Formats: sequence, structure tokens, C-alpha cells
Amino acid sequence: MKIAFFSSEVFPYAKTGGLADVSGALPKKLAEKGCEVKIFMPFYKNIQPEEVNEDFGILRPIRNLEVIFIRNDSYFLRDSLYGDSRGDYSDNMERFSFFCRKCFDVLKRINFSPQIFHTNDWQTALVNIYLKILYKNDTFFKEAKSILTIHNLAYQGIFPKDKFSVLGIDWQYFSLHYLEFYGKVNLLKGGIVFADMVSTVSPTYARQIQTPAFGCGLEGVLQQKGDRLVGILNGVDYTIWDPSKDNFIYKKYSVESLEDKSFNKEKFQKEVGLEVDRDKFLVGMVSRLAEQKGIDILVKALDRILEHSQIVILGTGDEKYHKILERKVAEHSPRKFSLHLKFDEALAHKIYASCDAFLMPSRFEPCGLSQLISYKYGTIPIVHHTGGLVDTVKDYDEGGGGFVFSKYHEDELAKAVERARLVFNKKEEWQRILKEVMGYDFSWSRTTDEYIKLYQKCLSLL
Ligand code: ADP
Repeated sequence: MKIAFFSSEVFPYAKTGGLADVSGALPKKLAEKGCEVKIFMPFYKNIQPEEVNEDFGILRPIRNLEVIFIRNDSYFLRDSLYGDSRGDYSDNMERFSFFCRKCFDVLKRINFSPQIFHTNDWQTALVNIYLKILYKNDTFFKEAKSILTIHNLAYQGIFPKDKFSVLGIDWQYFSLHYLEFYGKVNLLKGGIVFADMVSTVSPTYARQIQTPAFGCGLEGVLQQKGDRLVGILNGVDYTIWDPSKDNFIYKKYSVESLEDKSFNKEKFQKEVGLEVDRDKFLVGMVSRLAEQKGIDILVKALDRILEHSQIVILGTGDEKYHKILERKVAEHSPRKFSLHLKFDEALAHKIYASCDAFLMPSRFEPCGLSQLISYKYGTIPIVHHTGGLVDTVKDYDEGGGGFVFSKYHEDELAKAVERARLVFNKKEEWQRILKEVMGYDFSWSRTTDEYIKLYQKCLSLL
């Protein structure tokens, strides 16, 4: 099967969140299973292709897979992917519409005629739109079908109406049935309307986004997709996330050498200035600092959690939360609370390896990868019961390997952490859970087969 995969971020070339992890892993697995895959992404700063011309560059990491970097130095050679401290770049619509248009030219230039166009989130949703509008009668793309995967419905690519002409499509598509959304242009909406199939990253989130509480105004459009909307749970790339092979952590370990997990914990406590004590319950969080991630209730629960536990947070995002967390740090001893407001891949690995538990109090969560990564490192997730967290974390009291709270409230979060800490104090029981969760299998293999089935279903559509 010939697949073109479009993403604004792909690990290891560019990453701000889970989208990069998925875009780094799924195409690789598809290629390993015999599909012919080309990934398209922008040519950002610090990427070094093997071949490059003035329009695009190419890398060939493994057999059957090419990564094609679309070049436009004035659009993509910037310090960040989507914006700076002042907010989103004001020309994001120009940047990503350029990208999407250019991908079609490059496909022709390299003479690759995909059967499946697989796009991801609003940044590449225009590919679904262009395929059905601009290339409808183009014989080169005649057989192609398109799939849009929604990694987070909260980001829709909404722009002012007066920018519509940037897209290069007829004004008839600025209507309620297509891209118009409360008087503005909504690229994700257009992608949903024009895609042959839409997927999202967990079955629960697929159901939730069809309701007003989670649909962000698009619940109606999503309901209309009917059985053309599916939820496929993300996997984890265990070639990157595995404590027995991880070069970022202090000492590699596995289920047979859990003593070495404690070694990691003590080294880490020392490095970041926490009190060095393996019997202190150490709770970690690695997250974008956004409304979605539950920082508001975490801040309110923090004082209570810190009475008996240590916390480390690695995150970056909303300035508002940077300030709130900085104020909280000033109120507490650095021996208990360690805060790192940055994006740091190496530190993230150390946190997964060194902590006893991992916090995900998300208000909503399309899938969540951190809880799955945590399992592999024997770090027990404490999560809010929502989205992909429902599909992946079962509460300890129901025989599962995590701690779950149902009501989105700081008291419930603090109680869940305390419940976890009390089990942590029963050393043998805690070791039993660690061993159990380290054996869970959330590898990409199964997920990739589900995507292949989805592609086949899509190809059989009229
Ligand atoms: P989302 O995509 O909503 O940000 P996910 O849980 O799906 O959340 O994926 C988050 C990914 O980004 C994980 O791999 C996590 O380790 C990583 N990550 C998030 N924030 C940081 C950070 N500040 N530094 C390093 N890695 C981070």
C-alpha cells in the first residue's frame, strides 16, 4: 500500500507533544510491515536532510520510508514551530496552506501517487480539503482516499474570514457546510468534512467529541461522520521508551533489576536538589502547561500533596501557568518541590525512570502517552477519568495498575495521590504493581494493524 503521511511535527526531527511521537512511530511501523510510506513535514531549523534542493529535502531512515521536508525558509526557519512568547505566529495560515499545497507538487515531482493521504490535526487538514477540491479531477491522484486523525480537538486552526482567500479555493466553501465556523475559517472543520474517514486517538475520546462537553463546537460535524469516525488507541515506541535500553537515565533497569530504579531515584533527587530519600513518595509530571492538563487543580492540591510527598514538574507552555507554578515553588522548600519550565527530552526520560508515580490530572485527554510511557518505567500513573486515560488506566481498587479519580476537583486529586502513597508504603505490594505494569503491552504493532485495516476500509469506500 502506498501512503503519504502529513504531520507538522515528527520525532526526532521536531516535537512539541504527542503528535510527534505518533508521527515518528506509526509510519516507521507501517514501512516495516511492507507499506511504502512518505512522511511530509516542514523543513524547520536544525534538520539535516541527506539531499536538499530549494523546494524540499529528503531523508531515508529505513527501507520503504522517506521523510520529505517541505522548504520555505521565511516560513519555517524559525525558533519555534507554531509561535513565540507573544502567541501564535500571525502567518500560520499562510505557512500551513503553503505547506499543504506544496506537498501535492512534490508528490508529482517525485512521481509518487499515494492510495492513502493520512493527515494529522489542523495544520495538515488542508490536504484533505485540497484533494477533494483542487485535485478532484487530477488523474495522478484519482484513486486516492484521505484520512484525518484528530490528536486534539481543542486546536482547530481558526482564522479571520478576510484570510480565506489565502487558501486559494472558491468562496462557495466559506459556508456552514464546509469551512465556515461562527464567521471565521476553521481548517480542522474543513478537514473533517472532506476526509473520507476521520480517526482520533482513543475509543473513549471518539465518543466524547461527539458531545457538547468535549466537541469544542464540532460535535455536530463529527456526529455526521457516523461510522466514518473511529477511535484507535495510540501506542508507545519501545525502541525509544524502555528503561533497559535508555541512554538518558542514570542506570538502565528492567523488571529483574528494580533495585536500579531506586538507584535512579536517589541520583535524580540529588541532581535536582530534592531530599535524597528512597522512602519518600516521589511524584512526577512531564507536560505541556496548558489548560487541558489539569494544572489548575494541581496547583490547588499542591500544598496537601507536599505534606507527605515530593513533586517534580517538567513543563512549558502557557505563561499564566509558568507564573502560578513559580509562585508555588517560592512557597515551598526546594527539598520537596522541583520545577523545570522548559522542554527537555533527557530530563523527561529521567523523570519517567526516577519517580514512583506520574501525575495526569487532565481535564480532557485525547489519548495521553505519558501514562503508557510511565508503565514501561514502573512508574504508576495517577489520572483523571477522561478520554484515553479511561481506556488505558484501571484503578488499583479494581485490580488495575493506576490510581484514578472521577470528579475533576483538587480534593479528588489529592485523595488519589494519598491513596497511592499509602500503597507505596507497603513495599511488597508496590513492587508487585510495578512488575505488573512494566509487563503491559502498548506497542505500536497492534495499533499499526488497526490503521492498516482502516486504510483498507477507506479504499473500499465508493
Ligand atoms: P500532548 O500531546 O497533549 O502534549 P501526550 O501525553 O500525548 O500529550 O504526549 C506528550 C509527549 O510530550 C510525551 O512524550 C512527553 O514526555 C513529552 N513532553 C511534554 N512536555 C515535555 C517537556 N517539557 N519536556 C520534554 N518532553 C515533554
